[in-house]
Amino acid sequence: MLTKAEKSRKSVSGTPGYAELTFMGTGSATPTGERWLPGVLVKIRGDFILLDCGEGVQYRILKAGLKVNRLAAILVAHLHGDHLYGLPGLLESLGMWGKTSPLKVLGPAGIEEFIEHAVLSDNLGYELVVETLKPGVVVSGNGYDVIAFPVKHIVNSFAFVVLEHDLPGKFNEEKARELGIPAGPIRRQLLAGKKVRLHTGRLIEPSEVVGPPRKGLKIVYSGDTMPCAELIEASSKADIIIHEATFSSYNGVEAYVSGHSTALEAAYTASAAKAKMLILQHFSNRYRDLDLLLQEARQVFEETYLSRDLLKVIVKRQGEESINATFQTL
Ligand SMILES: [Zn+2]
Ligand SMILES: [Zn+2]
Repeated sequence: MLTKAEKSRKSVSGTPGYAELTFMGTGSATPTGERWLPGVLVKIRGDFILLDCGEGVQYRILKAGLKVNRLAAILVAHLHGDHLYGLPGLLESLGMWGKTSPLKVLGPAGIEEFIEHAVLSDNLGYELVVETLKPGVVVSGNGYDVIAFPVKHIVNSFAFVVLEHDLPGKFNEEKARELGIPAGPIRRQLLAGKKVRLHTGRLIEPSEVVGPPRKGLKIVYSGDTMPCAELIEASSKADIIIHEATFSSYNGVEAYVSGHSTALEAAYTASAAKAKMLILQHFSNRYRDLDLLLQEARQVFEETYLSRDLLKVIVKRQGEESINATFQTL
């Protein structure tokens, strides 16, 4: 039997066309007082997916007051310390926080050895499945998939697409009233694509009152990468691209040599992909004022925003294709 809290979580959590992105750390390489190391917690269709797990992610989860027992998977983009040194502590804490459902940890080749050596507990309290990432669908959730694909960094690296399945079309209330369709289970059957016969004998086709399916949310996470065609292609018409912007274009050579992107390059990717929104993260700690990065990106892609630690972005599908995004600091 579900508790009241679980019931409310269940009803809210499954909301189609709704996601929450919480930035745990937005720095790179080494933390600063304000910016810890990468980790973006995505809540979609009731599940949590953690993209990267830099040192300190578990403290940010506590600070944000998030209950992550429904964490379904942790995806590590590549095996640089800033993206995975938070794993051992978080994996052990999850069990102590009461997690009982299985957890998948996926990362490039070497992730299994890392976990084997770094996680010393032989009973976490839940089933831990550790696997090497391969391109393609790596997590299949209830109403969404997560797809991994290789990008270009100085080590074997992946980026991820969180892709929600198509959403049901809009229910046409006015037409339903005209046709005498009562509220309740009949409407749910029509929304589920089933024909129904009214007590008058009239057969109603779903298409009479339900609009065409709408696109589910598409959220892309770049990991660490220099600009590449693979990322542009996979980000096509994304609602949000969370992209690394380690450097300003004034440090373009350094970005190139270290396999990173500048804010300007991230903006070109978002523009070429015809994305709706770009959120920058993974900033070098040399920049005191990130306005420089924001302004250079906005010259190319106006809908660019800077992330900060404990920023929560609530994303909702509006109409056929647009989104409504609300920014909160936790
Ligand atoms: Zn990094
Ligand atoms: Zn890296």
